[in-house]
Amino acid sequence: MELNFINQKYILDLLENAKNANDEIISKALDKADSGETLAHSEIAALLKTENTEFIERIYKTAGKIKRRIYGNRIVMFAPVYVSDYCVNRCTYCSFNQSHDFIRSKLTMEQLREEVKILEKMGHKRLALEAGESEKECSIDYILDCIKTIYEMKFENGEIRRINVNIAATTEENYKKLKNAGIGTYILFQETYNETVYNKFHVSGPKKDFNWHLNAFDRAQNAGIDDVGGGVLFGLSDPYFDVMGLLLHNEHLEKKYNTGFHTISVPRLCPASGMNINDFSNLVDDETFAKITAVIRIAVPFTGMILSTRENRDMRRKLLQLGISQISAGSATEVGGYQKRRRNEIITPQFFVNDERSAVSIIGELIDDGYIPSFCTACYRSGRTGDRFMSLAKSGQIGNVCLPNALMTLCEYSIDYGDAHFREKAASMIKNEIPNISNESVRRKTIKNLEKISTGQQRDFFV
Ligand code: SF4
Ligand code: SF4
Repeated sequence: MELNFINQKYILDLLENAKNANDEIISKALDKADSGETLAHSEIAALLKTENTEFIERIYKTAGKIKRRIYGNRIVMFAPVYVSDYCVNRCTYCSFNQSHDFIRSKLTMEQLREEVKILEKMGHKRLALEAGESEKECSIDYILDCIKTIYEMKFENGEIRRINVNIAATTEENYKKLKNAGIGTYILFQETYNETVYNKFHVSGPKKDFNWHLNAFDRAQNAGIDDVGGGVLFGLSDPYFDVMGLLLHNEHLEKKYNTGFHTISVPRLCPASGMNINDFSNLVDDETFAKITAVIRIAVPFTGMILSTRENRDMRRKLLQLGISQISAGSATEVGGYQKRRRNEIITPQFFVNDERSAVSIIGELIDDGYIPSFCTACYRSGRTGDRFMSLAKSGQIGNVCLPNALMTLCEYSIDYGDAHFREKAASMIKNEIPNISNESVRRKTIKNLEKISTGQQRDFFV
């Protein structure tokens, strides 16, 4: 049964009333967030709406504090792999939309292997599989073949350990197939929770059905996929409305399935071929975008937050301080993009990336900035998903697992992919972090691995 649990009027009223929130209300909301309490909808709306620069600074500080308390200084790394750009939908903001005339393609399994080889050489262990919607050209069986092909690949340095999947809303039956194929998180962006705006930008195709799209995670949950990742495309509608929509969606899932979003992505509309950015009147400026990111972090402290290469280096560095816990690196956003990039042939990406640096330079800069780049996929591989993951996260114990895993995977990465300079700085970071590992035997193991980085020995461990 389809259900529209996004009460449009309720959100509009919240945002309207938030205009009258006085300093006392906002200050109290920030105190509550600081002490780990859950905020009411009206308080979140008040934080979103404030224009007071002193309060905005406090929002940044509180978000940063929450992030450090829950995630420490770890940043999970991933990369997208685009397998097909055939699409029957006309989403006016996307270069893959059906009206855009370009030569479309999908990867053969051989081409996919070549893409994955390049991604593995960058050190990636976690991929996001991306495809447009086309039952004819890109059926669920094709997607399942892609997943199987990737998981079957073995390299000298291990393998791709987790494939998150970002494909169109589909049936419960197809979600069961994805579940059986061993996917990580199923990711789907609602794009906007404002139904009127949604209808305007989704001109035709199955995605035009707002409720079908909105209920996709319910079908996924019913099919056994308990890690789902939401998001909106900021720039389509009022961003504050969309933040409230995301939170209502999250609460709906929590109430019904005992677990909300595993991750929330914060993509912001950026130019692409086949669309004109000037056609969009709700583009979000940098200040508003930073505030939105920080408020989401405050509102859902335990939900991972993902940022892509849509944002440039400066913005990514800023948002990492405000709540982002996962970033992509070295991304190509076109079908076969990693091979094409080698040949200087990028023609029709889904969007133009604004952080074009190589994965290794992004990873290296994270270390310079005091972050631990993590290639950990342990929760997924040990079956710690859905509410099992959330309860560990909410207990505050997850950091005890994440930190040693992040350090171990950084050891792996350094030995397998780092040059002497990289190994030196990674070793120094790991050494500084070792005292923070709570488990004695894990601490001893990490010290042993650290020696291997320094002496350039082969690794004999596997995270
Ligand atoms: Fe197709 Fe997705 Fe692009 Fe819409 S956003 S046109 S569904 S690929
Ligand atoms: Fe993520 Fe789990 Fe690894 Fe922590 S231990 S980084 S939550 S996969």
